[in-house]
Amino acid sequence: QPQRVPEPHHDTVGILAMDSAGSLAGACSTSGMAFKVPGRVGDSPIIGQGLYVDQEAGAATATGTGELITGVCGSFLAVELMRQGHSPLNALREVLSRIAARYTLAPEHQTAFLAVNTRGEWATAALRPGFRHTITDERGSRVEEPHFVLLPG
Ligand code: ASP
Repeated sequence: QPQRVPEPHHDTVGILAMDSAGSLAGACSTSGMAFKVPGRVGDSPIIGQGLYVDQEAGAATATGTGELITGVCGSFLAVELMRQGHSPLNALREVLSRIAARYTLAPEHQTAFLAVNTRGEWATAALRPGFRHTITDERGSRVEEPHFVLLPG
């Protein structure tokens, strides 16, 4: 049995961007999960799971335990909620609430999302503390705490 070791230097990087014309773009790149089951495909490479961008509704990306994200079609769900009129923050609250309702969460389970709508309003949210986002806008770049944590402690 391989021994599980702490992995302080791995994670998914998800990026959402809006240009001056209002076009949305996104990217999602992962180092994957250590000791994964052979053949496991995480959420990151699957459109709608780790990343979804729709010019008419918004964009979302995810990091963390891929099984939780794919179980609710996480990024697609966030975008569809924004399409229905939810703010990015409320959309992410609903995605995380749905994950918490559907799964028996283990202490090592974590997931976090970024979302932006077509007006450029954006939010980030995490299941547990520990996730931080970086925002770059006209005021420069800053590392910040997420706007919402479902299980703060
Ligand atoms: N989401 C990735 C996966 O489950 C892992 C990560 O975010 O670090 O494959």
